This record gives sequence, C-alpha cells and structure tokens, in this order.
Amino acid sequence: MTAQIISGKELRKEILDEVKLGVAEMKKKTGRVPGLVTILVGESPASQSYVRLKIKTALECGFHEIQDTLPANISEAELLARIEGYNNDPAIHGILVQLPVPKHIDEKKIIKAIDPDKDVDAFHPVNVGRLMIGGDAVRFLPCTPAGIQQMLLRSGTEICGAEVVVVGRSNIVGKPIAVMLAQKGEGANATVTLVHTATRDLPGHCRRADILIVAAGVPGLVKPEWIKPGATVIDVGVNRVGINSKTGKAILRGDVDFEKAKEIAGKITPVPGGVGPMTIAMLMKNTLLSAQLTLGITGDQVLDDADEKK
Ligand code: NAP
Repeated sequence: MTAQIISGKELRKEILDEVKLGVAEMKKKTGRVPGLVTILVGESPASQSYVRLKIKTALECGFHEIQDTLPANISEAELLARIEGYNNDPAIHGILVQLPVPKHIDEKKIIKAIDPDKDVDAFHPVNVGRLMIGGDAVRFLPCTPAGIQQMLLRSGTEICGAEVVVVGRSNIVGKPIAVMLAQKGEGANATVTLVHTATRDLPGHCRRADILIVAAGVPGLVKPEWIKPGATVIDVGVNRVGINSKTGKAILRGDVDFEKAKEIAGKITPVPGGVGPMTIAMLMKNTLLSAQLTLGITGDQVLDDADEKK
C-alpha cells in the first residue's frame, strides 16, 4: 500500500492562515501587530533568497516588517549595537539574524546578544535551556523541529509511547527534536533514540522506529529495507544532487529513497515540499506568539474573545 503523503506545503498554508487570523484579532483588540526585523549581513545569494522569502511571508501575515541589510564589512561592534537597538524597540517582537554571518563576526556572540524573549529562531542558549526543561519554561520552539512536531500531530501520528529514531544530532534539528519528543506532555512522551556516525547497526535502529526522523544531509542514506512497514517517515534532508537542464534550478533529494520508501511507510514527507516549507511557517507562529506574550494576550484568549463577539 502506498503511504499517506504529509504535505508541508498544505500544512504551511494551514498554519499561516492561523497566524493571519491571530494577527487580525490582535489588531482588533490592541491596535498593534507583531513586528519582525530580518538582519542580513553581506550579499550571499542563498541568504538573500531566504531573507526575501521570510520578508514576503511576514508581510502576507500582516506583520510590521523591517528589512535591515548591512554591508559585509560591518564591524562586530556595529552589528551588536544594531541588535541592542531592536532589543529595546517595543514595536519589534522578533529579531532574526540570517546565518551564516561573515567570518570576522563571532556568530555565537551575535546569537547571545539577541534578547531571548525576541529570539524567534530559538537559538539563544537561554531558549535552548528552556527547551531542555520543557513545559511552562518553553517560550519558543526552534522552527524546523517545531515544524516536524506539527507534521506528526496534524497527520494524526501517535507520538505518545512511540519508538522514535532520530538520525543526526545537529543543534538545529536532531538534538532539539529528540528532546522535544521525549518530554513528558502533549505531542511528546515518545521513547527516543538519537543515532549518528558512531552508531553501531544504524539499519537495526531504524527498523525499530514507529517514527523515523532523518536529518543527516546524506542523499538516500536510509534504504527502503530499513523502514518498518507502516512507520511514519519524516525526511528533513535537503540535498542538491544536480541541476535541471530545462529550468536551471537545483534538483533536490532527501535523505530517504522516497519512491521506494513510500511503498513501505504508512506516512511519509516528500522532498521538496515536506519539512522545508514548515520552517518559515513556524517562524511566523513564533513571532505572533512573542507579540501575544509581550502584549499580555494569549492566542486562545484572542480567539475566545472573537467567538464571544459572534
Ligand atoms: P548537520 O549539522 O550536517 O549534521 C548532520 C548529522 O547527521 C550529524 O549529527 C551526523 O553525525 C549525522 N550523520 C551524517 N551522516 C551520517 C551517516 N552516514 N550515518 C549516521 N549519521 C550521519 O545537519 P543539519 O544541519 O541538521 O542538516 C541535516 C539535513 O537537513 C541537511 O540536508 C539540511 O539541508 C537539512 N535541513 C533542512 C531544514 C529544512 O527543511 N527546513 C532545516 C535544517 C536542515 P555526527 O554528529 O556523528 O557527525
């Protein structure tokens, strides 16, 4: 039987519609909208294209959006001063510094300079610590892992009690999603195994997984025979494997052999169109949440009030 495809494109739209609703209700209630600043240092084409997409999405959501494009030779001190300015700006609820920054700037120092309560990427050590503690301590979830969790929840995948295997232990995907799914609480409570290049018997671990999350950056790493029949497979990998001669665009492949895997898995995400589109959606959700928390209103309250007025 062919697996159910979990479409990131469709879920992205669903989440952005919720964000737009939240923004409209916030505006009605407070006259304010979430504010997001995207800071881009230098002219890397890949970074420019990511930033353009973030700005476009923020504007579609109805945010107040500031695009701060800075020259590649800006000093670290000037960039830090810029961030401090946004930390103190009450119209800004989210601060994004597009990474990587030029080599003469210390990336860790930049991340630490962002007010953790405006760190909508959730990369600041304070937010990493809050994630580890879990529950009420969490303010923002990092965007790609949060997108993965939403894909599991919204596709009706049973997480509680499930055997989850996460391939890859990066700070931005593998480690945080492993911690999030192992927490005690809703949308979690799984039994999680985190595997990497030093793992013995990688296929054996993968075969046990009810939920297999792969974030290694190795095209086709996970073979179809490593997948437990009926498992949910989340392929985070985005690998450029060539150029389409007709369109001139990169040909993208995941870490899983999708065509064969979809004949074995119960649910699976495609590449492209899977986890990728979820990341920006979760970034917008974090920015709305930041504004809601700062203004002292929760999303539920805003929606409840709206329901009462109907
Ligand atoms: P990363 O920092 O490169 O880390 C890769 C991880 O995979 C490492 O922990 C590495 O193990 C492990 N790994 C690599 N080869 C392996 C193998 N043969 N067997 C077992 N483990 C192996 O990765 P990342 O930044 O998390 O990115 C992973 C992939 O996800 C990339 O393709 C990236 O483009 C994609 N990605 C997509 C999104 C999105 O869609 N929004 C976001 C982030 C990343 P060691 O630690 O032992 O070296």
